[in-house]
Amino acid sequence: MEGFHVLNKGNIPTFADSPYCACAPDKVHDLPHVLKECPIFVKESAETEAGTAVQILRENFPDLLSEDKICQLFLTFCERVTGKISKMNGSTARY
Ligand SMILES: [Zn+2]
Repeated sequence: MEGFHVLNKGNIPTFADSPYCACAPDKVHDLPHVLKECPIFVKESAETEAGTAVQILRENFPDLLSEDKICQLFLTFCERVTGKISKMNGSTARY
């Protein structure tokens, strides 16, 4: 999966202007990096894993979406991550 280029709505040099993450010049900010490796999102990831007792891994997506309470926590995580990326990109779009 490509990075979060779609979220870039402004002309300010941002997270979306490069395939590499702001946390390290050699890390591509693809979905696996954002979900599990990136220190920028570690707080959101750790809090969600603690709340759901499910690791945020692609193979666990069915578990993360199976029960209403867990699904809601996971969707909140997704909103927090996309919101943070939007802010970093200077976007004013609402998701
Ligand atoms: Zn990163």
